Amino acid sequence: MSLPQHAGLDTALDYRYGEALSPGQLVRVPLGRREVLGVVWASELLSEEEAQALKPVQALLPLPALDAGWRRLVAFAAGYYQRGLGEFALQALPVGLHQATPAALQRRQRAMPQVAHSVGAAGLASEPPMLNEAQLAAVAAVCAQFEPGAARPPLLLWGVTGSGKTEVYLHAAAEALARGLQVLVLVPEINLTPQLEARFAARFGAERLVTLHSALTPARRLRHWLAAHRGEAQLVLGTRLAVMASLPRLGLIVVDEEHDASFKAQDGARHSARDLAVLRAAQAEVPVLLGSATPSLETWQHSLSGRYHRLDLPQRVNAAPLPAIRLLDTTRLPRSKGVAQPPMAQALIDAMEQRRLRGEQSLLLLNRRGYAPVLQCGACAWKSDCPHCSAWRVFHKGDRTLRCHHCGFTEPVPKRCPDCGNTDILPVGRGTERLAEQIGEWLPQARVLRLDADTTRAVGSLEAQLAQVHAGEVDVVVGTQMIAKGHDFRRVSLVAALNPDTMLFSSDFRAPERLFALLLQAAGRAGRAGGGGEVWIQTGQPQHPLFQALLRSDYAGFASQQLEERQAAGLPPFAHLALLRADSREQLQARDFLAACAELGQQLAPELSWYPPVPHPVARVANQWRWQMLVESPHRPPLQRALQAWMPEVLQLARQHRGVLRWAIDVDPSGI
Ligand code: ADP
Ligand code: ZN
Ligand code: ZN
Repeated sequence: MSLPQHAGLDTALDYRYGEALSPGQLVRVPLGRREVLGVVWASELLSEEEAQALKPVQALLPLPALDAGWRRLVAFAAGYYQRGLGEFALQALPVGLHQATPAALQRRQRAMPQVAHSVGAAGLASEPPMLNEAQLAAVAAVCAQFEPGAARPPLLLWGVTGSGKTEVYLHAAAEALARGLQVLVLVPEINLTPQLEARFAARFGAERLVTLHSALTPARRLRHWLAAHRGEAQLVLGTRLAVMASLPRLGLIVVDEEHDASFKAQDGARHSARDLAVLRAAQAEVPVLLGSATPSLETWQHSLSGRYHRLDLPQRVNAAPLPAIRLLDTTRLPRSKGVAQPPMAQALIDAMEQRRLRGEQSLLLLNRRGYAPVLQCGACAWKSDCPHCSAWRVFHKGDRTLRCHHCGFTEPVPKRCPDCGNTDILPVGRGTERLAEQIGEWLPQARVLRLDADTTRAVGSLEAQLAQVHAGEVDVVVGTQMIAKGHDFRRVSLVAALNPDTMLFSSDFRAPERLFALLLQAAGRAGRAGGGGEVWIQTGQPQHPLFQALLRSDYAGFASQQLEERQAAGLPPFAHLALLRADSREQLQARDFLAACAELGQQLAPELSWYPPVPHPVARVANQWRWQMLVESPHRPPLQRALQAWMPEVLQLARQHRGVLRWAIDVDPSGI
């Protein structure tokens, strides 16, 4: 008699195997003509006859089984985000594991260094500082949650840059390690936080720490994943994908910069790693610590309602003052000739020069890559639109191209206007490339460095450029929001934001929240070491409540004003949303599909709000039309129930609407 086993694939598929397998065991199974990775989900005794109808499990992988905690998390996440169990489970496992044969895994594991579990084996490399009172209270609140039977509300650690949050993470982690437990630390972008990794490694020893993020080679990521799965790595520091790491002795989860948008996946299962971290901690009965200077409004609202427990770090360590913030009213600046030149305050240029003369650095934030966002003919109405998208193509002067930032379509800049033949084609507006060039003209002696996705594409180039900044070889750094995050620039004493208003008037309801976080985080870059840091903001709306709250560094005031608006508008955290997206070749095919879906939803759950489809903010990309429709519910459970009933119907409808190229459901979308 054989004991057939079920291995989880897209929806669980059945396979047979000659002896008992336990749930969570990793196997290789045939699927069509391929052999793929599978996870045993459940097993069942079948008759010989039934068993013979099934394909056999090809091989067992020589690894410990994925534990019940991991499987519970996957099962919840798949259900919540409306994905197949197998799809979610397999996506949560590293690519290297999908390709590994049993023999290769055996070899790999024999080669892995055995890391001692015992505490102190690695020795403490850096001496921790004496904590201040607020830090002590925060660490004590985490430690209380290690006790069996303790209440474990998620903990929000609220404090500005430099208030000592990381030091709290380190102390809480030390306590978890002392108890023989594993610690998971989630960060928004690993490339931008080498300093955090360095601090953990310095405190606990690099050999106890592994990183998990998408920039690792598949082999390395597999090695790190295995170290976590086998319990050898005591600290796992990673980006959003690390939330699904297998951690058999998980004892603490930390989410740094918990408000950051990059915790929300924008493809695949579109899950929120922050939300899954909170859920995982609750399931595993371990503390979760969410750190931020500008918490997401969801988290903030939970802390106000008492569901989360807030821990405040009200002051910067060593009482270093927050930088002074100054608003520059662009409507009062003299307009330069024509529309082609956005304004730039002379006072700001002078301030940069002063810093340079003092050997300090300035950091200019401009959220727009390229030289100019659009080229325009001086004689006719021609503009550099993309033939494949509803968007302008951006002028990149370095290689004299017009590039579409949506579909990638790139062409050399035309010498003459394609419509009228005029040679007088002008760049309109300003991107980072143009700003860097202009600063070179305004301040000929300044050494200017541009940091954005275009200058950091090559492997290692970001690190090299950051090293230049740290070494003081640069006077002015020009960059997109990537420069606002995480870097500890000790010589920067002036930070300026040049075009924040574009975010202020975005159609996305989360844009103000993001802008406030970005500006306060950027402000945190000014004068971390000493006092005297300044933040300048060029805006046409200096009276806007967001900027007024920013002047006072008043996150709480900003949050309460935003929460009022959200409540009045029926938006998160006072409502729960799901967004169904669809793309089609013809303009109206996706719309018609979504309209049919909305109608069906309306019948299934009339108590929810089913909105008609609307075009995506960039309605056409690469010749495909993008539409979306929104479902809204004041409470989560009815939304979950409705989605459960609705998705099979959507699947049916998608089969009937042949023109739909792809569609996806996004539960708790990051914006609409
Ligand atoms: P945050 O994570 O909130 O930006 P950090 O934990 O990085 O703050 O602290 C800022 C700086 O102050 C770091 O250099 C850190 O080593 C130092 N620091 C933190 N807490 C203390 C303390 N209690 N005593 C002395 N220095 C501290
Ligand atoms: Zn023309
Ligand atoms: Zn395009």
